[in-house]
Amino acid sequence: MTTHDATRAVLREGPTVTTLLSRAAHRHGDAVAFIDKDGVLTYRETWRRVRAIAGMLRAHGVALGDRVAQLAPNSTNAWCVQAATYILGARFVGLQIMGSPESWSMVLEDAEPCVFVTDFDGAGELRGVAATSCKILSRADICAASSDEPLGEDTLPDLPESTIARMAYTGGTTGRPKGVLQSHRVLVTAAIFALGAVAFPRTPHFFIGAPLTHGAGTMVLPTLIRGGSIHIAETFDPDIFIDAIESGEVNATWVVPTMLYKFIDHPRTRRARIGALELVVYTGAPSSPTRIAEAVDLLGPVLQQLYGQTEAPQFLTSLRPEDHQHRARLASVGFPLPGVTVAVLSDDGSPVPPGQTGEICVRGQIVADGYWRRPEETKTAQAGCWLHTGDVGYEDETGCIYLVDRKNDLIITGGFNVYPREVEDALMSHPAVADAVVVGVHDPYWGEAIAAAVVLRADATVEADTLIAHVRTQRGKVYAPKSLRFLPAIPATAVGKPDRKAIRSVFANS
Ligand code: AMP
Repeated sequence: MTTHDATRAVLREGPTVTTLLSRAAHRHGDAVAFIDKDGVLTYRETWRRVRAIAGMLRAHGVALGDRVAQLAPNSTNAWCVQAATYILGARFVGLQIMGSPESWSMVLEDAEPCVFVTDFDGAGELRGVAATSCKILSRADICAASSDEPLGEDTLPDLPESTIARMAYTGGTTGRPKGVLQSHRVLVTAAIFALGAVAFPRTPHFFIGAPLTHGAGTMVLPTLIRGGSIHIAETFDPDIFIDAIESGEVNATWVVPTMLYKFIDHPRTRRARIGALELVVYTGAPSSPTRIAEAVDLLGPVLQQLYGQTEAPQFLTSLRPEDHQHRARLASVGFPLPGVTVAVLSDDGSPVPPGQTGEICVRGQIVADGYWRRPEETKTAQAGCWLHTGDVGYEDETGCIYLVDRKNDLIITGGFNVYPREVEDALMSHPAVADAVVVGVHDPYWGEAIAAAVVLRADATVEADTLIAHVRTQRGKVYAPKSLRFLPAIPATAVGKPDRKAIRSVFANS
């Protein structure tokens, strides 16, 4: 590197999460930053607590590059552990509370943390923990440390933005989970993208009932930069959310589509005073255009869709509230964010013209560094210097992106390619259907047969054959499910997305 290159690199060095947290604390000091069932914390108190917990982690030997794992429900303290890990230059590993001991074991084994924060009874028996000299801390230890003397700001390491802050595990439903390396640069970029692209209220008061360790967590930094507050709930309960909107405490939330459907179908929502609600971010999984149109009619122009993934967390494209007026666009994931380049590529890596499907590939500051200790998978995901999202879709003439489905979810039935999304959208356009998820199940005749799990709306009744005929009329014979089961709710993964593996086993066992 020449002297000039070195100067240029330093000139372009961005801030870290530490810088943003410190600035927010100094700027918004006595304003409320966090509210959870244990109480209220101001910005100053939050920053103090983060540094106190960092002091305890440091006393337990946590240093640059070490991993700190946590298995805990959403809470202010759980977020503080995450932030404390970042400011030490260590790597946070969040285990999903709705996951299984098997999935936790796989993550711990892979991440080899030196500290594991959890109240889980069998923590010591989880394989990864047994295999390392990991120190187990309880939530009570974290509570106790909260009032310790905090680390002085001048004793915090001066981190380059390339320092890895998180190892976010992904892909656990289809194989061994992989740790995505997200640097401070990526987390700060996510906050900048959020502030530029998301229609935040002037002062956001965010209700977070989805896991903070997943996409919902990306709302925290931008909210703190704006001087707003984070209202943390352990789960998304529409009743609690409606109370919080009616009392004027919150004006924004982040949901996956099934949470949105649960909210709009809730008997109180129609007559609730929801005028204070300014923003509902929905993301994380495909949504039904029919159901989104209903949500717009009910809630007004407050919906914003985001599309992203752990490997580019979580800001690639966005459908802004005003874009929801064009009903045809409700089937899309919106337009690329200004800081993201999107290409739709064929299997040989060449770009396909508008209207033709290919793999959605992206570039930009938001792209993470690859997978921890998985050079081959990293190489494949980044082939040709593009991040291959694994999502199949197309771009229209206006640059709007439409996702067809995950590459791996493709069903090949009797030699025809069917993406579950095409069948799901057709099912959800029927007035009796609240939610639907479609999978391919092994079939000796068809190779794979289309199977649909359907949740009906309250008080609706319909025969399975009627719904199958509805899909046949809407999309054609090939798309008609060979079997259809009514379920009380769609089985969900640890982060609330449809659990296709669990749904497949419903059909395998019937
Ligand atoms: P994760 O890495 O768990 O956040 O999952 C990312 C995947 O979720 C993406 O690659 C998409 O398949 C899916 N996804 C995320 N946002 C959307 C969206 N708005 N619409 C459809 N699918 C989405």
